[in-house]
Amino acid sequence: AAERFVAANPKSKAIQEQAEKAMPGGNTRTVLHYHPFPLRFARGEGCYLWDADGHQLVDFLGEYTAGLYGHSEPVIREAIKQAADDGWVLGGPNLLEARLAQTIVDRFPALERVRFTNSGTEANLMAIAAARAFTGRDRVMVFKGGYHGGVLYFGGSPLNAPFDYVMGDYNDAEGSAALIREQGDRLACVLVEPMCGSGGCLPGSVEFLQSLRDATRETGALLIFDEVMTSRLSPEGLHGLLGITPDLLTLGKYLGGGLSFGAFGGRAEILDRFDPRRPDGWPHAGTFNNNVFTMSAGLAGLTHKYTPERAVMLNAAGDSLRGRLNDAIARRGLPLVVAGRGSMMAVHPGTTVPMSPPEAGRRPRKLIDLMHLDLIAGGVYTARRGMAVLSLPMGAAEFDRFVAAFEEFLDARRPVIE
Ligand code: PMP
Repeated sequence: AAERFVAANPKSKAIQEQAEKAMPGGNTRTVLHYHPFPLRFARGEGCYLWDADGHQLVDFLGEYTAGLYGHSEPVIREAIKQAADDGWVLGGPNLLEARLAQTIVDRFPALERVRFTNSGTEANLMAIAAARAFTGRDRVMVFKGGYHGGVLYFGGSPLNAPFDYVMGDYNDAEGSAALIREQGDRLACVLVEPMCGSGGCLPGSVEFLQSLRDATRETGALLIFDEVMTSRLSPEGLHGLLGITPDLLTLGKYLGGGLSFGAFGGRAEILDRFDPRRPDGWPHAGTFNNNVFTMSAGLAGLTHKYTPERAVMLNAAGDSLRGRLNDAIARRGLPLVVAGRGSMMAVHPGTTVPMSPPEAGRRPRKLIDLMHLDLIAGGVYTARRGMAVLSLPMGAAEFDRFVAAFEEFLDARRPVIE
């Protein structure tokens, strides 16, 4: 598969070699690297991408959920153009940020107030800082294999969080509640994704998430849901769908219309500490927190494109696609499973959905690498780790193409899969 890939992509290969001179590995986003080298993209339109060698691919990577609107979406493009016409380094609050904030607060039940950042990583760092300041406690609880941003990855990275943390096991309701109680008044907060996104689209059970809610309420630690990826899963985010309300919520990705974005918010009692009129107000600055391109694109997207009705439809389309892929596996009796929820999914070796990222990591990942290159050869671009994400411009033709490429992979690689 790698040889075929090299032969098909001479221009991407040449650009990669050039890029390696200025960037380690020719790369500035670890997650976008794969063997033998990543495709270089020239352009995107709707849900299609064109790489440097001129191949057209259906974009099921969807910028890891940030690409919800698709490429060059006309409404978003107009919003960016409008912002460009009006100037973009105004150095003061602009006409758009409060409107975007209100739209987001109205949508997600956990939010009484919100503030913006430049990325999901920053949103999580700010939420953790707020939880530590609010509780006067130090320690943070996260989950093994959890990913919350570049310096917030708990899968054994040597670059990590500048605070003391303890780790629980994802989907272990009893053990996690016991750990929270044992940490008692040392624990400031618990940071968790209600479905592990990059960890493999592994849903957290209601029992697990509710046990975190109950135990943190008991000990006074704050519960933070990282919905940077999962907020797309219903009109009210995943916490709204599940009916579990965290104290703090972090957001990112598509909510900025596909531009750099992050946000953190939650209970007014906590967030209002950021009120700059307070003598003891907490600082939160950031030159580009209210950048007009993001504010304009984000507002246009939520108002005109990702309406509550469209959110329901997109996630129903995802459920249907995941069902078709799992049917294709079942018809062949192969040991593979497509995990996820709504418009986010990931393929795993094995017959059951893994309970946690470490469990997913122990399954044979080489097979998923092979699938990734096979799908590219079939005109379907997914994340290397086997993750696929839907975007609004997709329709029956793109879903059929995905299923066809996936079935081709299953049939061609049957001996390896078995
Ligand atoms: N949290 C989660 C759950 C994420 O998936 C990501 C990014 N993939 C982040 C936080 C970090 O967001 P950003 O890349 O915008 O810093």
